[in-house]
Amino acid sequence: MARIVMKFGGTSMAGIERIRAVAERVKREAEAGNQVAVVVSAMAGETDRLVQLCKEAAALYDPREYDVVVASGEQVTSGLLAITLQGMGLNAKSYMGWQLPIRASGHSAALIENIDVDVLERVFDGGGIAVIPGFQGVTSDGAVATLGRGGSDTSAVALAAAMKADRCDIYTDVDGVYTTDPRIVPQARKLDMVTYEEMLELASVGAKVLQTRSVGLAMRYNMPLTVLSSFEDKPGTTIVGDEAIEESKMERNVITGIAHDRNEALVTLVDLPDRPGVVAAVFGPLAEANVNVDMIVQSVRTAGDESDLAFTVPNASLAHAVAELKKVQAEIGFKEILTNMNIAKISAVGVGMRSNAGIAAKMFQTLAERGINILAITTSEIKVSVLIPEEYTELAVRVLHTAYGLDAERGVSGEAAA
Ligand code: ADP
Ligand code: ASP
Ligand code: MG
Repeated sequence: MARIVMKFGGTSMAGIERIRAVAERVKREAEAGNQVAVVVSAMAGETDRLVQLCKEAAALYDPREYDVVVASGEQVTSGLLAITLQGMGLNAKSYMGWQLPIRASGHSAALIENIDVDVLERVFDGGGIAVIPGFQGVTSDGAVATLGRGGSDTSAVALAAAMKADRCDIYTDVDGVYTTDPRIVPQARKLDMVTYEEMLELASVGAKVLQTRSVGLAMRYNMPLTVLSSFEDKPGTTIVGDEAIEESKMERNVITGIAHDRNEALVTLVDLPDRPGVVAAVFGPLAEANVNVDMIVQSVRTAGDESDLAFTVPNASLAHAVAELKKVQAEIGFKEILTNMNIAKISAVGVGMRSNAGIAAKMFQTLAERGINILAITTSEIKVSVLIPEEYTELAVRVLHTAYGLDAERGVSGEAAA
C-alpha cells in the first residue's frame, strides 16, 4: 500500500466526460489498495476567464477579492469529481482549503504556511478518498487565498509533503517534461528524468508544465515527483536528485531544455538622474508593492548625467508597477515611463553549462543569424536568458532547440521518433 497524491490539471478536468476519465484513474489507484488524495485544477480556461472579469471590474483590483473570484473554479471541479467518484461507488468527498485547513499568507500569490493533516488521516482511516481543490488556502483571518497561476501543482506537492506521501503524480495534457514546449516545437524530445535543479530553472523561466514553487518544495522534501499524461498510459518524466542522473550514467546534453515566457512586460524609465540611491528609490517601492522585478538593464550615457533604466515585471503586475512608479516620479525625477508588453524571454537551461563555455555565445550567434534583436540578457550558473520582441518567440525557440542539438531524431516516416 502506498500513500499518493494525484493532481489533475485544467485540460484533464474540462467537462464531465474528462472528469469521468480522471475518476477511472483515481479508482484504479484506490482499488490497488493505495491511500489517495486528489488535487484538481479548475476547468481549462476558467481561471483565465475569472481573472479577466476581475480586470474588467477594476484594473487595480483588490487582491483579496481577486482570490474570492478566482478560487471558485477549483471549488466547482472538486465537487464534480467527488460526485463522479461517488457515482462509481467510491467513498469520496471534497475538502475545501479552509476545511483541512491549508493555511496560507498573502493574496493572489499566497504562500502555504502549513497544512493540517488530521482531517485527511481520518479520511484514510475510514478508507476514503479526499478530493481537494488546488490553488487555494485560507489566511489567518479566514479569507480564501490563492497561490498564483499554476498553483495547483504547489498545492499537490505541499499536500504530499504534509501527509508524508510516497509520491506525487502530476497528470497533465502532455506525457512528460520535454526539451521544450512540444506545442511549439514538434521535434521536442521527452526527458525520462530531469534534476530538481534543472526543473526549477526551466519552470522559473516559463516551462509552465510545473509551477516553480512546486519543484522547490519537492526538492526540499525530496518528494518523488512525476509528470505524466492523464489521457494515455505512458511512463512520464521523473524529477530526481543529481545522484540519480549520475547513477544512471546516461549521456546528457549540455543543454537540457529551452523555455519561453510571454508573461513579462518591459518598463523603461527615461532620463533617470545618474546618482547614487536612484536605483534603490525605484525598486524599493516596487518591492513593497510585491511586484517581482526580473531582468534589469541600465544604460550608461557618455554625455549628460541621465541614463535609462529598463526592467521586466510580470504582465499581471504592470498596472500596479506603473501606479507605484508614478507616485515617485516627481521625487526621483525621471522623464517618462514607457511600457512594452510585446516581448518574450527565451532561456536555455542545463547543468552541463557549468563545465562548458560558449553556451551564451552560441545563443547570441544563432539569434543574430535570424536577425532577432536582443533587448536584455541575464545569466546564472545553469541558465542563459534573453529578452526579444514577442513576434520572434516561436522562431527563436525552434532555432535554439536545433542549434543546441536537442531535436529528436527523425524516423523513416519523417515523424519525430521520440
Ligand atoms: P495543467 O493544466 O495540467 O496544469 P499546464 O498548461 O499548466 O497544464 O502545463 C502543461 C503545458 O505546459 C503543456 O500543455 C505544454 O504546452 C506546456 N509546456 C511548456 N514547456 C513544456 C515542457 N518543457 N515540457 C512539457 N510541457 C511544456
Ligand atoms: N487554475 C489555476 C490556474 O489556472 C491553478 C492551476 O491550474 O494550477 O492558474
Ligand atoms: Mg499547470
